[in-house]
Amino acid sequence: MEIPFAFEIGGKPLNPADVKDPEQSAQLQQIVDSIVDRVEDMKCPVHNEHPRFLCHGDSIEELSLEVYGCCDGLVDMVRNRLDA
Ligand SMILES: [Zn+2]
Repeated sequence: MEIPFAFEIGGKPLNPADVKDPEQSAQLQQIVDSIVDRVEDMKCPVHNEHPRFLCHGDSIEELSLEVYGCCDGLVDMVRNRLDA
């Protein structure tokens, strides 16, 4: 996968592959797929970089998404795409 996607629960990094509960693991994978599906063709036109994502929260049920990129232009582009 070209798009880096990280999870952080309660301030600790979480690898979806390490989640024991198959339902929760599937839930995390679904988040990744739904976002990557929408942004995988996106690259910064200036720096030729992919966006990066961090999904974080106190629990798997309460996650919010942060978008990172090489510059504000890319981050705005990605946010607009995900809002659409
Ligand atoms: Zn850029």
